[in-house]
Amino acid sequence: MLTSQQTISLFNQYVIANYTRYPVALVKGQGSEIWDAEGKRYIDFFPGWGCGLLGHCPKPIVEAVQKQAAQLIHVPNTWYTELQGTWAKLLSERSFGGLAFFCNSGTEANEAAIKLVRLYSGKDRCKIITFQGSFHGRTMGSLSATAQPKYHAGLAPMLAGFTYVPYGDLKAVESAADDETAAVMIEPIQGEGGVRMPPEGFLQGLRNICNDKKLLLVFDEVQTGCGRTGHWFAYQYFGVEPDIMTLAKAVAGSFAGAAMLAKKDVAGSLRPGTHAATFGGNPIAAAAGIAAIEMIEAEGLLEKTQKLGKLFVTKLQSLAEETDLIQEVRGTGAMIGAELAMDGTPFVQACMERGLLINCTHGNVLRLLPAMNLPENLANEGLEILADVLKKG
Ligand SMILES: *Cc1c(COP(=O)(O)O)cnc(C)c1O
Repeated sequence: MLTSQQTISLFNQYVIANYTRYPVALVKGQGSEIWDAEGKRYIDFFPGWGCGLLGHCPKPIVEAVQKQAAQLIHVPNTWYTELQGTWAKLLSERSFGGLAFFCNSGTEANEAAIKLVRLYSGKDRCKIITFQGSFHGRTMGSLSATAQPKYHAGLAPMLAGFTYVPYGDLKAVESAADDETAAVMIEPIQGEGGVRMPPEGFLQGLRNICNDKKLLLVFDEVQTGCGRTGHWFAYQYFGVEPDIMTLAKAVAGSFAGAAMLAKKDVAGSLRPGTHAATFGGNPIAAAAGIAAIEMIEAEGLLEKTQKLGKLFVTKLQSLAEETDLIQEVRGTGAMIGAELAMDGTPFVQACMERGLLINCTHGNVLRLLPAMNLPENLANEGLEILADVLKKG
């Protein structure tokens, strides 16, 4: 096996350097622990950038993938497979009873949503309102929906038809919605934008505006969905139902997979020839997705996640009282942000050196996306490292 340094040399020679990477090669994960090539163990409070909602290598997913890989790896969408139908049924029954389109990544699910909005609304209504600080993905359509100038730099022109308004500002939405507007698209909790919770009544206000003006409400639940908040979907936590919802990251238990769910009358506009994804809903992703839902239910992980969220918020809030570094603690379930008074990057580095993996987003927000099944002893061990690192400033 290569050392981390040898793997880094390999990358330097052959892999495009479009990511900022930590100088460590990871080799093995189990639950909320992960090991590097030198055998160092880390507690992972950010498994798989939100994809590892069930921890690393959860047994039911490993078994489902192994079994399916020996049976049928891929068939094109010109055929039926029972697995894809079953996966769609399980997702539909746990959400608003809609129909599913399958693809492979979050940005792709949002591209599907953008196309469905346009197909459904007709050629005179193509505009979509999105929110400052949002993140919807990196392909040109989803990137155009993403209202953060830093992600657009050097890539102009964006796709036409997006209007950006401040997050939480209902009046701005109202005045931005004109005769050409077809939809409002939003993350129920902004993820990359700093774990930003919607102000009280904001999502309901959007629903009301959409009802009044006959607009579609699209929730990007790529990060918040699939149990992350201690509910199947964040829209259920807030009690406001979208017309279209996009899922990826954790939807196939750490495996690559994504879905767009749409209410039946809307979904009908995606007809043969309008959209496709070669690998969408492939047997392995579907087997993993089904196993993920079954695992969450068999192990009571939604309830556990709600408790886990309370533990994190309580501990971080008391830490905020002890040090004046933390300005605000936000989030719910397994999606927690601690906004700092300064740049958070050095703290991520210091935690990593001490054997804890966390993330910093939006410059100064420490973001934790732990696994739903993070054991309490590891939660406490990791939080102690974080507290220690923050107290040392
Ligand atoms: C990560 C993310 C995406 C993009 O997902 P990819 O799989 O990287 O394309 C889109 N929306 C939200 C809210 C995300 O967190």
